[in-house]
Amino acid sequence: MEVSKLENIWFPYTQMKTMTTPIQIEKGEGVYLYTNDGDKLIDTVSSWWCAIHGYNNIEINNAIKDQIDKMSHIMLGGLVHQPVMELSKKLSAILPGDLNHCFFSDSGSVGVEVALKMAVQYFNNSGEKRTKFISFIDSYHGDTWKAMEVGDDPDYHKAFKGDDIPANFYVEPDNIDELEDILKKHSAEIAGFIVEPILQGAGGFKIHSREYLKNARKLCDRYGVLFIFDEVATGFGRTGDLFVASEDLIPDIIVLGKALTGGYLGHAVTVATDEIYDKFYSDSPEDAFMHGPTFMGNPLACAAGLKSIEIFQREDYLSKIKKIESTLMKLKEIDHPLIKEVRVIGGCGCIEVTDNKILKGFKEYCFSKGIWNRTFLNFAYIMPPYIISSDELNYVVETFKTWFEQEQKDVL
Ligand SMILES: *Cc1c(COP(=O)(O)O)cnc(C)c1O
Repeated sequence: MEVSKLENIWFPYTQMKTMTTPIQIEKGEGVYLYTNDGDKLIDTVSSWWCAIHGYNNIEINNAIKDQIDKMSHIMLGGLVHQPVMELSKKLSAILPGDLNHCFFSDSGSVGVEVALKMAVQYFNNSGEKRTKFISFIDSYHGDTWKAMEVGDDPDYHKAFKGDDIPANFYVEPDNIDELEDILKKHSAEIAGFIVEPILQGAGGFKIHSREYLKNARKLCDRYGVLFIFDEVATGFGRTGDLFVASEDLIPDIIVLGKALTGGYLGHAVTVATDEIYDKFYSDSPEDAFMHGPTFMGNPLACAAGLKSIEIFQREDYLSKIKKIESTLMKLKEIDHPLIKEVRVIGGCGCIEVTDNKILKGFKEYCFSKGIWNRTFLNFAYIMPPYIISSDELNYVVETFKTWFEQEQKDVL
């Protein structure tokens, strides 16, 4: 198809002038995407990491169909409904500690905005003015304004960074002294430390230690700064645990998105502890949290989310993810001088190269082998739906290996 025929669509992260024709997909089934031209592709990126059950899951389809016959949407202002009540109860139950108060929104970026606003107002309601945040170097928290500000990803946001955006503090993961230093000097103006815990996604699949996060938790407590987990990408199994947050590592606020609805509909949730919630709970309307996305708590999204969690637990996805991880480990055996590092954790495997000329043509090569993969910058990664079979995943890993060791053998 001519690219020009698609010109009424403005595509994401793309120079439209040089964009190659996107592949038109007619149908998804399990781990496969079916193109209009009759090709069948293994989806290795789960539609930006959200389609954890693959496509066309009959149970989730039916949950949404049942709900749509009742109502597809009602506002959450003054009204409430069963799916949102059940989902918030379920989330509170599966999240650690007293992360009990679920604020829904329509996307991960908005969920992050909600978390940041919550943190600032938490202090405001306590009579303190704190508006700054600490975040990681190379962090990615979404593309809306404040999410961008705490993000440190020049590839996404360079057009918007400059003197007019107030400085945020950026720290290197795993460097606890640096964090303490900033907290020591600036904690009076800092509302929160926001992290993609364990695994930084869009910033390059960097992995840091759980130990660091535990120490950071202690420092946030000591200096009275809120610890915020952006688990939009890591939530629901991606790092091998249901969440990075756990009974021995509880953030003050957590954001979930992407896989929240099993990849069916855009939705997110920002969950706060009792301590945070209580600061808004008073006789004064001024203390209330003044935020309310039109589609928050959408019944279809909640019905999908509930069914997704049910399947995740019933089918023991965590053990599936363990198997995926051990297969992805084979990426580490791939040998090529332009490979800088291979990182694997849970349902995520990433090859970082020193020069991305070696990734030129990789997407097309994968396509010719019946695989949908999309590299960016110096990263070729796999984040498959958890339902991928071990034969399918082995085939994907073998294809990666063949690319580097045979197709690109002499590229230096
Ligand atoms: C994808 C992502 C977001 C943004 O979510 P959207 O639904 O795309 O707005 C925020 N934080 C992290 C860590 C993400 O991976």
